[in-house]
Amino acid sequence: MNVLVVGANGQVAKEAIKELKDTDHKTFAMIRNNEQAQSLKELGADEVVLADLEKDISHAFKHIDAVIFAAGSGGHTGADKTILIDLWGAIKVIDQAIEHKVNRFVMLSSMGTVEPEQSDKIKHYLVAKKLADDHLKRSELNYTIVRPGSLTNEESLGKIKLEQVIQNRDTTITRADVAKVLVATLDKENTFQQTFEILNGDTDIEEALNRI
Ligand code: NAP
Repeated sequence: MNVLVVGANGQVAKEAIKELKDTDHKTFAMIRNNEQAQSLKELGADEVVLADLEKDISHAFKHIDAVIFAAGSGGHTGADKTILIDLWGAIKVIDQAIEHKVNRFVMLSSMGTVEPEQSDKIKHYLVAKKLADDHLKRSELNYTIVRPGSLTNEESLGKIKLEQVIQNRDTTITRADVAKVLVATLDKENTFQQTFEILNGDTDIEEALNRI
C-alpha cells in the first residue's frame, strides 16, 4: 500500500518510517518543512509530501491507500495548537482520507482518552484526542486506534501489554515499539475497527495483535 505518514518528522513517525522500509509498503512522508526532506529520505521514505496541517492538505492524499496519523502539537505549545493540530488537524486528515477513498487509517492516540476528566494536567489534550478518535470511529474508514501510555526513547523491547483499557498503568512504552504496532496493524484485518491501549509488557507484538 501507499502509506501517508502524517507528522513524519516526529519521533514515533521516524521509527515507523524505519519499520516501513522492511515491508512491501511505499512510504509517503508528510512534513511541513522542506529542510526535513533529505533526512527522511535517508531514513527510508520513498516520497516526501509538503503539507501543513494548519493549511490545505488535500494534495497529500493522491494515490494514498493508508494513513498513519502520528502528528501532534507537542507539550511546548499552548492549548490553541492542541485544538488546531491534535483535534482539527486530525479531523481534516480523516475527512481528506474519506474524500480520497483511502481504505485504511491508523491513529496514534493516547492512553487516558477514555476518561479525560481523570487527568490532572492534560485534560484539554485528552479531550482533543478523544473527539478526533470519535470522529474517526463514526467515519466509514477501516480504522485502528492505538492508545499508548507515556512514551520513552529506550530501545525497542518487542514486547507489549495490550488491552482495550489497561487498569494498571505503572509502566511506559518505547516509541520504537509504538511504531512497530502502528506499522504491524496496517494489514492485520483483526485490528480493523478496534481501539486499544498499549504499554511495555511481556507479549510479543505480533502475538498481542493476533489475540485482538
Ligand atoms: P513529536 O516528536 O512531537 O512529533 C509530532 C510531529 O507532528 C512533529 O514532527 C511535528 O512537525 C508534527 N506537526 C506538528 N504540527 C504540524 C503541522 N501543523 N503540520 C504538519 N505536521 C505537524 O511527537 P512524538 O513523540 O512522536 O509523539 C507523537 C504523538 O504521540 C504525540 O503528538 C501525542 O499525540 C501522542 N502521545 C504522546 C505521548 C507522550 O508520552 N509523549 C503519550 C501518548 C501519546 P515538526 O517536526 O515540523 O515540528
